Amino acid sequence: MVSERMKGLGTARSVIRELFEYGKARAAQVGAENVFDFSIGNPSVPAPAAVNETAARLLREQPDLIHAYTSAQGAADARERFAASLNRRFNAGCTPDRLYLTVGAAASLCCVFNGLTCPGDEFIVFAPYFPEYKVFIEGAGARMVLIPPEIEAFQIDFDAFEKAVTPHTKGVLVNSPNNPSGVVYSRATLERLAAILTQKSGEYGHPIYLISDEPYREIVYAGVEVPWVPHIYRDTIVCYSFSKSLSLPGERIGYVFVPGEAAEGDDVYAAVAGAGRSLGYVNAPSLFQQVTSLCCDMTADIKIYEENARLFVSALREMGYHVVEPDGAFYLFPRSLEPDDAAFSERAKALDLLIAPGTGFGAPGHVRISYCVQTDVIRRALPRFKELADSYR
Ligand code: PLP
Repeated sequence: MVSERMKGLGTARSVIRELFEYGKARAAQVGAENVFDFSIGNPSVPAPAAVNETAARLLREQPDLIHAYTSAQGAADARERFAASLNRRFNAGCTPDRLYLTVGAAASLCCVFNGLTCPGDEFIVFAPYFPEYKVFIEGAGARMVLIPPEIEAFQIDFDAFEKAVTPHTKGVLVNSPNNPSGVVYSRATLERLAAILTQKSGEYGHPIYLISDEPYREIVYAGVEVPWVPHIYRDTIVCYSFSKSLSLPGERIGYVFVPGEAAEGDDVYAAVAGAGRSLGYVNAPSLFQQVTSLCCDMTADIKIYEENARLFVSALREMGYHVVEPDGAFYLFPRSLEPDDAAFSERAKALDLLIAPGTGFGAPGHVRISYCVQTDVIRRALPRFKELADSYR
């Protein structure tokens, strides 16, 4: 006998992964240059040279220490550097004792959901959303309440949201810049959200936490503001990762930050640490605690994503696709050219264009395009997108 839930998770088909695997098999048949894989969000630019140099230096200079266990919550010197960086950049009032280092944003979120959940609790998520949220929330024993997408600008449908907040609401999750829409929540959106949460927390007599999942925080295009969420809503918990900003997804490193002023903050931090312990996430990889904390004010050379976005959006619009302008991350979320996004994605696949149906992100009638690829791949793919559009005329 095994856990049916875990067996289900271990065998369930992921459309994105299937597309990605299909792309590799197809590339072996027809040549990699003839397959246009926009299925997955693997950063296409290398980590900064300083990251590799720092890793090499630490391995050379500290061969005995660098692989040793650290404190469960992460090495004190690494947490101090992260705190100083957050204070420099966002005036965050961060202290090292409120940072818990983890294996990426996925683990940060799991620590938060597991740390916060009491029986009957619910977390509200806005579509379109990163599909793993449901796995993480349900894994913590809570219920995910999904708010349908506001498809004109991919901000928030506040009418639907207000109706969904109940005394069971333990937290609300935001992800901005967003996977899959690429949109950044405006200050006005966050302020309106904060006002509702403040009012409802007062009405129900318990804090409703705002969990800000921000692995794409730095991947944002000219002139777009990404507000520091704890300055807008007091009871915010920040989940961060270096997977995207430093192009280090395989190194598995990120953190949870519980701001000093958050309600019951000491308890929340202790519960996050307890969840990290119970999930086996203690002591994030020690080499990369050091490397990322020494390089945390840098980013990979992310300007290519903006170039890709501009090229893609203007070309697709010219062909008649409807696309909301992305502000960052490296995703586009255009409308599919027929209501059935799975059928549309299949039709694209027949042209060797691999794009993920939006239904899995909670937004039927859309597809996700990951444009973290070489610009040349996009240029060569555009005639196929044209052929796809023409096939609907
Ligand atoms: N949150 C979002 C919105 C993501 O897109 C991803 C990864 O793609 C994650 C969390 C998980 O990131 P990590 O690699 O840091 O676990």
